[in-house]
Amino acid sequence: MRRFSLHVVGTLIVSLVLDVAVLSAAELNAAPMLVIKNARVFDGRNLRPEPRLTLRITDGKITTIKPDESPPSVGETGSVTVIDAGGRVVLPGFIDAHVHPSIPLGFTALREADPNYAANRAALEARAMLRRGFTTVRDMGGPSFGLKQAIDEGLIEGPRIFPSGAMISQTSGHGDFRSRDAAARATDSPDVMQSRGYGAIADGEAAVLTAVREQLRSGASQIKVAAGGGLSSMYDPLDSVQYLDSELKAAVRAAADWGTYVAVHAYTPIAIRRSVEAGVKSIEHAHLIDEGTMKLLADRGVFLSPQAYVFGGAFPMTGKGAAIPTGLDRMMKLAKQHKVRLTFGTDVFGAPQVYGWQSREFGARLQWFTPLEILQQATSINADLLALSGPRNPYGGAALGALEQGAWADLLVVDGNPLENLRLLEDPERNLRVIVKSGKIVKNTLP
Ligand SMILES: [Zn+2]
Repeated sequence: MRRFSLHVVGTLIVSLVLDVAVLSAAELNAAPMLVIKNARVFDGRNLRPEPRLTLRITDGKITTIKPDESPPSVGETGSVTVIDAGGRVVLPGFIDAHVHPSIPLGFTALREADPNYAANRAALEARAMLRRGFTTVRDMGGPSFGLKQAIDEGLIEGPRIFPSGAMISQTSGHGDFRSRDAAARATDSPDVMQSRGYGAIADGEAAVLTAVREQLRSGASQIKVAAGGGLSSMYDPLDSVQYLDSELKAAVRAAADWGTYVAVHAYTPIAIRRSVEAGVKSIEHAHLIDEGTMKLLADRGVFLSPQAYVFGGAFPMTGKGAAIPTGLDRMMKLAKQHKVRLTFGTDVFGAPQVYGWQSREFGARLQWFTPLEILQQATSINADLLALSGPRNPYGGAALGALEQGAWADLLVVDGNPLENLRLLEDPERNLRVIVKSGKIVKNTLP
């Protein structure tokens, strides 16, 4: 018994020494380091050819990615933690380009809920998103500033958040959830959805400028405007065009003066075209787009931000949404044909089961794209979109959606090869063995 223990201890010491031997004295004395060895690296654009790489991480960033220099072992010594990926694929943490972490209830329930209750549910959903491998999300509408702050301060677990703040809408537009009575119409008595920051109703250039600047004052990294009819909204036909050119241009200029950009909710060619002509950089949904308008996006380098699962049959699309499923197929084919920059987003919100669909977006895209293309959408292409926030990028100190020297150490270790079987990612609880955000281990189920 004693001899066995000594043998185990001896083996441990040998393996620790071997690990430590490849670390310089400076590294050993430096800030805590995380080492991930024996990794096949998907860097956000391609699978690197080397079968065994070692990533070193300090201060939340990747300091080096080099060929393995030590035999596989797991150990911990001093301030160095070593994870042996065992030859598994390591990916950048995923980015969801369109999600609503702060709308954790349906609109009617949200309206009546105690704001603290809604905030706690949002915190739970943020944690669940991170544990699905989404280390960064772009919030496309909702009061996420406090949620973001609590996550960034390390009070709760969650993804990095690029907040838009309130979605800005015209009267009777996609963001107008007020009742029809006269009191609710008066601008000096906003209803609860506005006073809590879910939406902002603004008509005319001056009011639009104010609404944009209010979001920027709160810390928005980009601005969300509703430029056309919506599915979940009360008053607007889907084909309605929302905001005049002059109002859209005012929003774009106010955002540009802050160094950032406007994303619009729009389905139809006319709403998309008007937005692009006004300088909008990201089109959300766009499921009814035609070929000419797709070409315009390609020519102008505008990002297309569609969702395939939620709009591809998860809900029965009737009434307002009847044309969406056909439109989705046509849009994806046109986007591929014209090489439009297509982002990965899910638009999940409203209920736990809907948030749970977030990972199904991977498989839903397989009818149009290869696993490699979809992984690029969820990492490097989304990161290119987030970079449009320029100086308003809250995490501008390093690259996102990339495994490269100097990038944020947001990464995932996956069981199986997602480049061959992308649907592995639809079961993150089982198949994401390690989740690291900003160099901190969120999850590790490797032995
Ligand atoms: Zn949305």
